Amino acid sequence: MTDAVFQQDAYQTETDATITAVDGDWVITDKTVFYPRGGGQPGDTGTWRLPNGETVRVLDTRKGEGGQIRHQVERANDLAPGQSIAMKLDWDRRYRLMRMHTCLHLLSALIPCGVTGGDVGEDKSRLDFDIGDLVLDAEALTEGLQRLIAEDHPVSIETLTEAELDQQPELIKTMSVRPPRGVGDIRMIRVDGVDYQPCGGTHIRHTGEIGAMRVSDIRSKGARNKRVVITWDA
Ligand SMILES: [Zn+2]
Repeated sequence: MTDAVFQQDAYQTETDATITAVDGDWVITDKTVFYPRGGGQPGDTGTWRLPNGETVRVLDTRKGEGGQIRHQVERANDLAPGQSIAMKLDWDRRYRLMRMHTCLHLLSALIPCGVTGGDVGEDKSRLDFDIGDLVLDAEALTEGLQRLIAEDHPVSIETLTEAELDQQPELIKTMSVRPPRGVGDIRMIRVDGVDYQPCGGTHIRHTGEIGAMRVSDIRSKGARNKRVVITWDA
């Protein structure tokens, strides 16, 4: 199992780690600051410095089996189990993804409908909602987001047991992605006074860090679903 540093501290950008397995160009380590693709958020990229002083690019990060985290490296020739490496995230990219991802929590709080899909990107992100007859207005939603951002709500990580979550099924907003079961407590994200739901992603500490954001598109996806897209307002 890989020690997933980002689950407790999404702002840690570097760590030393030891390679535990190499499989083609996919490499597993005992510890990582790299977030593996999941919940609509892309896998992290960055660089590793090797004992011989060379660096290799990490192109993607994915979940492996049994809680392992796999990194896709540019070239694995020089890598072997037991080696120590120094990891460094592409922080600019990750921080943009964290701000986007956290803004999707705000969006989900403004639209009282089940979430049927989502995607986090560096430049724009989206959530799909099972909207029924509700009418959405991009300008009103943008105002709502900007208000929640300006109010600078704190964002914190909490936990619930599976049994506690089972007693409050309404906390699960994302109909397409259920929290993992049988692996211990459920990780909960609280945007104070705004949103509270299970989430395994990386988040900023205060909503004010998101900055200027707007709803740029609302379109139908099938009979009941609406896709809401957010983008930087700069
Ligand atoms: Zn989240």
